[in-house]
Amino acid sequence: MNLILFGPPGAGKGSQSNNIINNFNLKQVSTGDLLRSEIKTQTDLGKKIESIINNGELVSDDLVNTLIGKIISDPKNFNRLIFDGYPRTISQAYSLEKLLKEFNQKISIVFNLKVDKDIVSKRVNGRIICIRCFRIFNVYLNPPNSKNHKCEKKYLKKRTDDNSKTILNRYETYVVKSKPILDYYNKKGLLLEIDGNQKIVEIYDKIKGILENIRD
Ligand SMILES: [Zn+2]
Repeated sequence: MNLILFGPPGAGKGSQSNNIINNFNLKQVSTGDLLRSEIKTQTDLGKKIESIINNGELVSDDLVNTLIGKIISDPKNFNRLIFDGYPRTISQAYSLEKLLKEFNQKISIVFNLKVDKDIVSKRVNGRIICIRCFRIFNVYLNPPNSKNHKCEKKYLKKRTDDNSKTILNRYETYVVKSKPILDYYNKKGLLLEIDGNQKIVEIYDKIKGILENIRD
């Protein structure tokens, strides 16, 4: 099966994606990773992409689609791709469909992790990490206590890499930009909305149950 995972920043898409990849032996396709690895291997295409980025320009849909095509056409990736952060535009969605068809594949299901802004805010603002044992907690959703954490309180620090305002802005942008693409997959009967406000394990149980029933 090939699937697409949609969800705003703070929806816990990364955790879900990792679980799916590990349990179902899928390969994750993210545009950022593809661009980086192409640049790293310094192919002609990689050099071209590098110069575009160095000039401060956006990499075109055409180039992104070329990279996606390379992944889809590779027999070892046959029917085992999970797309994350792609397609980002309707034109990319069309192109993805065309490419999959060319290599006798299709999208089996599209998940949309829906999460309230309030929950995203709690998730990103509440994150604390123990600098001694590296466990991650959340003051609102998963507070450290005497049962789940043995280190002294002084080791607990708010994670400084989480710029909550930026994340909430990205959330708003995401909701607007993803709408036409989600509508597109909804019309095709492929879209499945998942309540992303629940706990990560609960969300994954739901996703797992659905994927286990997909046979192609
Ligand atoms: Zn600790």
